[in-house]
Amino acid sequence: MTKIIDGKEISAIIKDELKSKVEEYKRNGITITLAVIQVGKDPASSVYVGNKKKACAYVGIESLAYELSEDTTQEELLMLIKVLNNKKEVNGILVQLPLPKHIDEDLVIQTIDPGKDVDGFHPQSVGVLSIGQKGFVSCTPAGIIELLKRSNIEIEGKECVIIGRSNIVGKPMALLLLRENGTVTICHSRTKNLKEVTKRADILVVALGKPKFVTKDYVKEGAVVIDVGINRDENGKLCGDVDYEDVFDKVSAITPVPGGVGPMTIAMLLHNCVESVSL
Ligand code: NDP
Repeated sequence: MTKIIDGKEISAIIKDELKSKVEEYKRNGITITLAVIQVGKDPASSVYVGNKKKACAYVGIESLAYELSEDTTQEELLMLIKVLNNKKEVNGILVQLPLPKHIDEDLVIQTIDPGKDVDGFHPQSVGVLSIGQKGFVSCTPAGIIELLKRSNIEIEGKECVIIGRSNIVGKPMALLLLRENGTVTICHSRTKNLKEVTKRADILVVALGKPKFVTKDYVKEGAVVIDVGINRDENGKLCGDVDYEDVFDKVSAITPVPGGVGPMTIAMLLHNCVESVSL
């Protein structure tokens, strides 16, 4: 029988664990504060920011919201980040992406103090991850590792195939699976014979941003499929990069969309905020 990997349930457990840790810190006089910066009023970003603030409140992390107008200059944004870098009471800084086109995202990420880089996007965080040292890890791939571990899915020695090589999902995912002793292959838009490669996977992570792209002829019988995609189908309904119904009977475990990887991303952001105290 196919196991549905319930990200909602697992993320709720993680949030409760973090809530206890935050309470313990509070008893010792330590408050954790996350600064959240949003530039402009992109509706999807506003929903994400709102969810992050709500999740912070649930576990007892203070959140400081900076809602800047669409025409904020790059200099003004960098200045705010530098001020927050120097504020002792701020543990984490999150700049909601995407930013308006006139702002250089890479520069913004590089300006965040690596010690407060709770999104794990700073080049220093990426470097630390690649050499296997402790640091902030990008939340979505970190959440996927937690999903696998807490579902008792072994990674060691398994053929792990990832579709997608973005800096925030595909690449850090590969490094994390490697750290767990998986045998890792990364596929992308130039990969030849994609189906042949993905059919080798014991664990297939799909993050390419195309609705219902992966059908049953991309997966091996009994594979574990992790669907990172968040898309709308032709009826405007949320769907992943995997055709869930089509692959369901062929796989041994799968994450639904919504309710799979998505909730884990926020849980791992909270985890990084809590970690920031000890890193
Ligand atoms: P990007 O657009 O940055 O990267 C997509 C990757 O997929 C690229 O590496 C691209 O290859 C590859 N790709 C595109 N088309 C194909 C194809 N036909 N065959 C093989 N590879 C292909 O996306 P993200 O990594 O940012 O996001 C991926 C998906 O995950 C999106 O749906 C996004 O909404 C979702 N997402 C969900 C999150 C969550 O919390 N659940 C968090 C982050 C993202 P190339 O490099 O060659 O162009």
